[in-house]
Amino acid sequence: MGIMNLTPAMRQYLEIKEKYKDCILFFRMGDFYEMFFDDAVTASKVLEITLTSRNKNKEGSIPLCGIPYHAASSYLVKLIDAGFKVAICEQVEDPKDAKGVVRRDVVRVVSPGLVVDTETLEADKNNYLAGIVVETNHAGIAFCDISTGEFRITEGTATDQFAAEIAGLDFAEIIISEQARESSFIRSFVQGAADCKVNYLDSAFFEYEDAVRCLHARFNEKTNGFNFESHGAVTRAAGAVLRYMEETQRQGLEHINLIHWYHSENYLVLGDTVRRNLELFETIQDMKKEGSLFHVMNETVTAVGGRKLRWWMKYPLVNPDTIRMRLAAVSEIKEQHLLRKDVRDQMSGVYDLERLGSKVSMGVANGRDLVALKKSIAALPCIRNIIRDGESLLIKDIYKGIDELSDVADIIERAIVDDPPPTIREGYLIRKGYNAELDELIGLSRDGKSWIASLEAKEREKTGIHNLKVGYNSVFGYYIEITKSNSHLAPETYIRKQTLVNAERYINEELKSYEATVLNAEEKRKNLEFEIFSEIREQIACNIRRIQKTASFIADLDAVAALAEVAEHYNYCRPHVTEDDRIDIKDGRHPVVERMRLADGFVPNDAMLDCGKNRYLIITGPNMAGKSTYIRQIALIVLMAQMGSFVPASSAEIGVADRIFTRVGAGDSLSRGQSTFMIEMMEVAEILKSATSRSLILLDEVGRGTSTFDGLSIAWAVSEYIHDVRKIGARTLFATHYHELIDLARTAEGVRNLSIAVKEWGDKIIFLRKIVQGGTNRSYGIQVARLAGVPDEIIARAGEILENLEKGEFDDVGMPKIARGKVSAKRKNAGQLNLFISDRDRILRELKELDVDKATPLDALNQISLWKERLKKDD
Ligand code: ADP
Repeated sequence: MGIMNLTPAMRQYLEIKEKYKDCILFFRMGDFYEMFFDDAVTASKVLEITLTSRNKNKEGSIPLCGIPYHAASSYLVKLIDAGFKVAICEQVEDPKDAKGVVRRDVVRVVSPGLVVDTETLEADKNNYLAGIVVETNHAGIAFCDISTGEFRITEGTATDQFAAEIAGLDFAEIIISEQARESSFIRSFVQGAADCKVNYLDSAFFEYEDAVRCLHARFNEKTNGFNFESHGAVTRAAGAVLRYMEETQRQGLEHINLIHWYHSENYLVLGDTVRRNLELFETIQDMKKEGSLFHVMNETVTAVGGRKLRWWMKYPLVNPDTIRMRLAAVSEIKEQHLLRKDVRDQMSGVYDLERLGSKVSMGVANGRDLVALKKSIAALPCIRNIIRDGESLLIKDIYKGIDELSDVADIIERAIVDDPPPTIREGYLIRKGYNAELDELIGLSRDGKSWIASLEAKEREKTGIHNLKVGYNSVFGYYIEITKSNSHLAPETYIRKQTLVNAERYINEELKSYEATVLNAEEKRKNLEFEIFSEIREQIACNIRRIQKTASFIADLDAVAALAEVAEHYNYCRPHVTEDDRIDIKDGRHPVVERMRLADGFVPNDAMLDCGKNRYLIITGPNMAGKSTYIRQIALIVLMAQMGSFVPASSAEIGVADRIFTRVGAGDSLSRGQSTFMIEMMEVAEILKSATSRSLILLDEVGRGTSTFDGLSIAWAVSEYIHDVRKIGARTLFATHYHELIDLARTAEGVRNLSIAVKEWGDKIIFLRKIVQGGTNRSYGIQVARLAGVPDEIIARAGEILENLEKGEFDDVGMPKIARGKVSAKRKNAGQLNLFISDRDRILRELKELDVDKATPLDALNQISLWKERLKKDD
């Protein structure tokens, strides 16, 4: 279709669309956003709306669909959720003033990482747009939540480990240079961040010079000492993120005004796998929030507090002083019941200050947002007053840090009505008495309207038509309506305006002039109110930094109070956090499992770990005894303590960990084409590569996904390596049903065997859930199979086979027990127990150890012939 055949509006559409090729273009026409061509085809499918066409019956029809502008946000959400980018194109001049086609321009682009709508976003979760740049072996990452203004940067070596560490950061969208697409770091990162939209942009977008200019312009001195030159990759990533936002958002981004450096050494590093395995934010099995640690601990009452607590859980601390500072605040609030209740009550009246602030700054806040801001501010003096006498440092800081913002509330109170409509272009926003010109317009329009309202009675009397009506519609304006049967009575002064089936509509001179006054005044009023509102919004936007700071302090207070609330409710104790390596927990409980309705209640258990004699705990016991629960509860208690929370125990001494590693549960990445065993081994490899002596390692079965011999061999070798202080020497909890592993304690001085007590009752077992010293030499697998309902016949047969195997266990070379039995007495000096030395070596050793002086010639001959036999087998 030739472009000349197009209407001017369609030509304008194509020009704009050309600049936003990767977006679905919402093209404002009157009260609708229209979509055309392929956009229309796609959107009509996603939004389930009718696809029609322009120029239907003519040549070259254009596919078209539309949505009413006032309902746009729900449609927008659907498109964003489906992973699309939407460019919103508005009429940027009044159609009345337009010469020719109305001027239009894109005012905002929305994509998954650029959402500001509070209704769309989860209150207790951040929504980040991230940029990643890799320079040789160095990765720089910047991420920003445009809805809160938070802007963070971090960097690291471009390894899979770093990719995994950052992949769990709630990224909604990532931008990456087209050139970097094939880098292995990028590939593994993109694979890990499965739910997020990935945009590959031209590499010019990631230029260093542009980035520096852009960062300087936005943050000037507020870069927290960030030196661009020595951090090229991060600088380029940060610049790209900023540019992406600036180019897509035409409105102010003043709320993005501070750079936070994230240094992983300040935090207990968890990584995405660990967060998932420990079920911090959702359960592994069905990805539900219920059943996660966050769910049981999130007693916050504000959105900002919820996000803060989530951050604390994602990034627990490592510095004991900082941790103790948080603990002191939690303790203080916990002890003061009334204060806690009061302050939480007051805080529950605070709306999402951060996101409201961002909306104001971006010029998308409406009257209701401002009223919500005002109401939130109203609670601040009271909140401050309640914590006035706070003694802990953190509470004192919060008291000092909260800005009461009364001037901001005042502006809103004076200008904006208490219950404004959701739109800002239709008037009824601004309070009477705020602006004289506006009051006058309102007066005019009101007087005109009341005159019109009185017209009906007057005209009825004058004409004698008792069913004469005065009405209004938006197309024809005011009219006098007379039914057809009475229309012959209409006075001559009536001018016919419109004919309906049963009635005629008229206007007269007087009504016409009042109509002009009213409509004029209404129109002016709407425009003036919009102007005043925008001005007020800008005034408030100037205070954005103050609003953000206060929001952050309220978030701290809410998170602390939530931890106090949970501690009190569930009888947690204040942990003693140290720089030492001892983890000594008395009567520890699993914070999530203990909340489930267990028939016999939760059985608490002690735990003792250090980097010395208690560094490698092997926990044996039948399936379902509670091994996983036990090792997880220890990790969770350490994590909770390091986030500054009280812990489910009667007492706890926690020597901080630098990282937590897990090898637990079945991997959920089968969809990514990796076998369970492969994933298991990848997790093990990761631990062996990255753990330090200050780490805490959880192993829940190693080598389960392969044959018993393979599995046991790997488990043994891995254990030796982690246990070895020259290699790792980290505190480790290893839950296993390979009861053979308990033999490790004979040669490894840091290994402790524990088991979970079970009572045998005939051939049944009862779980006691109590941890006891010493390993168990049975797996009870068959009993568990019976519990699970495997038929008796099979259970009996399995019993027979087990017996055979156990007999055989002592003669086969590959069997662990035989290795121990034959060698152990003679190899006291041999250092590590080696399970799988070949028989040839064994023969050599036997030869060496043979006391020739004491042997009779016959013995010697016999021995030689035995050796020959064995050597033959070995070949
Ligand atoms: P294992 O890892 O030994 O197979 P789990 O740790 O999965 O066993 O525990 C199985 C079930 O036992 C859990 O789902 C929980 O209901 C229960 N359980 C575990 N530990 C305890 C405990 N200390 N007190 C009460 N019930 C427990």
